[in-house]
Amino acid sequence: MDERETLTWETYGVAVRELAQQVADAGFVPDVVLGIARGGLIPAGSIAYALDCKNLFTMNVEFYTGVGTTLDVPTMLPPYLDASELDDTRVLIVDDVADSGRTLEMVDAFVRGHVAEARTAVIYEKPRSVVKGDFVWKHTDKWINFPWSTLPAITDRSGVRDA
Ligand code: 5GP
Repeated sequence: MDERETLTWETYGVAVRELAQQVADAGFVPDVVLGIARGGLIPAGSIAYALDCKNLFTMNVEFYTGVGTTLDVPTMLPPYLDASELDDTRVLIVDDVADSGRTLEMVDAFVRGHVAEARTAVIYEKPRSVVKGDFVWKHTDKWINFPWSTLPAITDRSGVRDA
């Protein structure tokens, strides 16, 4: 049995359309799609197109430093989002995967006092996640290879600040 779950670009295309369909079927019409960079930015853009939503925001959060290795807590990186820009909006928070769920939990708490309503959409959710996504394409407990981060980077930016 494969130790990893591999998402191809082709299946990714199907996954984001089906995820967007879940949102539409639930009758949730977001004013803003908020993608958690970097991994959530890619599905956030695709879902924003599928839902015909032109307001795309991003929050840059780092947690994982490798397969299964993390910083102590999910950490916001610049450019920082001014949460008051989301005042009274309906927001769809999008990430690639809720693994521990702590990134999603942090972003949700960050916007919660501002927005009228926040819902979460992820391509994958793992059983241990502390947050249960409102919209989930697939459940797995494996490490996931995403099409955008499986190949090594073409350039080596080690030592470059905020790479
Ligand atoms: P969490 O805070 O839910 O533990 O994880 C947040 C982020 O860590 C995800 O958005 C993703 O960027 C990264 N991550 C967590 N699990 C995986 C995984 O199985 N595969 C990959 N490629 N990244 C992961």
